[in-house]
Amino acid sequence: VFKHDNGPNANTDLLLYTAVTPYEEEQLVRERCEAFLGQNDATGTDRTEILGRQFDAGLAFVHFPEGCGGLGVSPRLGRLVNDLLGAAGVPRPAARTIIGHGMGAPTILAHGSDEQRRRHLRPLFTGEELWCQLFSEPSAGSDLSALATRAVREGDDWVVNGQKVWTSLGHLAKWGMLIARTDPDVPKHKGLTYFLVDMQSPGIQAVPLRQMTGESEFSEVYLSDVRVPDAQRLGDVGEGWKIALTTLMNERVALGSGKSGRGAGPIGEAVELWNAAPQRGTALRHDLTRLWIEAEVLRLTNLRAGQARRAGVPGPEHSVGKLATGELKQRIYALCLDIMGAETLLYGSYDNENPRADNDAGFVQRKFLRARANTIEGGTSEVQRNIIAERVLGLPAEPRDDKNRPWREVPRG
Ligand SMILES: Cc1cc2nc3c(=O)[nH]c(=O)nc-3n(C[C@H](O)[C@H](O)[C@H](O)COP(=O)(O)OP(=O)(O)OC[C@H]3O[C@@H](n4cnc5c(N)ncnc54)[C@H](O)[C@@H]3O)c2cc1C
Repeated sequence: VFKHDNGPNANTDLLLYTAVTPYEEEQLVRERCEAFLGQNDATGTDRTEILGRQFDAGLAFVHFPEGCGGLGVSPRLGRLVNDLLGAAGVPRPAARTIIGHGMGAPTILAHGSDEQRRRHLRPLFTGEELWCQLFSEPSAGSDLSALATRAVREGDDWVVNGQKVWTSLGHLAKWGMLIARTDPDVPKHKGLTYFLVDMQSPGIQAVPLRQMTGESEFSEVYLSDVRVPDAQRLGDVGEGWKIALTTLMNERVALGSGKSGRGAGPIGEAVELWNAAPQRGTALRHDLTRLWIEAEVLRLTNLRAGQARRAGVPGPEHSVGKLATGELKQRIYALCLDIMGAETLLYGSYDNENPRADNDAGFVQRKFLRARANTIEGGTSEVQRNIIAERVLGLPAEPRDDKNRPWREVPRG
């Protein structure tokens, strides 16, 4: 057993003891789960209460340091915790916490102060406080670093003005991860700063947008003279882009990892539909087999990428999982509709649910429509291909004439 530092920004009080072999790490997690279940009534305790105790036991984000909801072990062991605690009846965190869990928590861990970690990680895990991501703007999606929302320092506060869009859960969240322009006179990547914003602050208006599935998953968010205390700044002034990359890379991990088991998830549903279908043509069977193999290759690729990942900032290679998961899901659900035939035309309910808890929930036709978003959210497939080309394969970068010009001088639509 060695003492070691857990990540680039680890503070001395977060140093922890970890087992060094995968076997020892797994044993540690099993023992902690057993002890947790021995000390807690898994099914008879209030949901928030037991999730809070799970955090305190280091079984929330196992790869985080002790004191931050983790044990400093490999992230792959998170699944083991879910299996062991889930089997005993401990409630799972709500699906709506995905932005906080997948993106907020690793960003706060990597770049937050001790005080920010203490304040935010626990209620983020229990779901008492939902999170949203205030990044995209009407004229800055793929070209995110061109964003125009301004934050101007006034005493101990920053005053924020601008508009965000496609903000998932923006109308339900308690906290938002915001990037805003604090210096328009330097090149676009350099003039950004990252803030944690209380979504109930005066001057924030979140207007839900209805999408083609029927529900309102995201909002446009207007920020008018919103005062954000400097204490809620994450990282240094001008470091916003670097910190945003932590959020984005973790988003790609969250969107690209999918269900773990062989034949599980969308491909499992397609096989089930196939088995139940009254008429099954040879052509569809070939398509199903081909997609099953692709899903299995993707599962193994994601497993390999997961082995290499520890706490902190995942690498650009996770764009492979994000890209392949999005495109494969669309093709699998298209095949599902082919298998279902005319039944596809019955759409269930078009009521504006506000929003569904789980993006992958509901009837197959809804999932087919929702899967359109998989190649857009978290960076489009074209953008993932650019990242893979430049940062994984080392191909020449796209020509960019705005890289070294002050943002103020770059023409914008
Ligand atoms: C369901 C859903 C949820 C979302 N949730 C959030 C959220 O919570 N918070 C948030 O901030 N954002 C969110 N987004 C926004 C998402 O990140 C953006 O939609 C995405 O980054 C694309 O930006 P854009 O829509 O402005 O499209 P654009 O950037 O305008 O792109 C238009 C088209 O041009 C292509 N393109 C652009 N640049 C290039 C290039 N350099 N090379 C090749 N092709 C290019 C794109 O691939 C795309 O096909 C969400 C989106 C969806 C669909």
